[in-house]
Amino acid sequence: MSSSVKHIKLRGHHLICLHFFRGEGYNPEFVDNLRTALKRVEAGEEAKVVEGPDDVCRMCPYLKESLCAYGEGAEKEIREMDIAALKLLGMRSGDKVDWRDIREKIPDIFGEWSGKYCAVCDWMQVCKTDIAFRDLTNETTEN
Ligand code: SF4
Repeated sequence: MSSSVKHIKLRGHHLICLHFFRGEGYNPEFVDNLRTALKRVEAGEEAKVVEGPDDVCRMCPYLKESLCAYGEGAEKEIREMDIAALKLLGMRSGDKVDWRDIREKIPDIFGEWSGKYCAVCDWMQVCKTDIAFRDLTNETTEN
């Protein structure tokens, strides 16, 4: 019997940030891979929560020897973000999660998340073009 269901693997902060994907990314391969992963989970396929590099990082030009080399200290910062994201979402590594369930949780946790992470993120200007992101930040911040 071979029940090898292959789940999309997602790390903590991607469970939050990818809801605001706008079709932009580091290069075309990265974007295509991300778009495919999102299509699958949006269509109802379960994602598996992982620690460290996930199926998005897999095609990232900044992934070097399984570490995030986006910038100085990135690996540590990203790991801390992952832990914070999972804590807010009430999830842990190994969980199988439904993308739509996560989406429903985002409004409740977004104030805390965005206050700490979005403001210092290089992708903030892209996320701001997303209507849901703008609605959430209007709800959670003055201005
Ligand atoms: S920048 Fe780092 S955390 Fe982001 S996708 Fe690339 S390797 Fe993963």
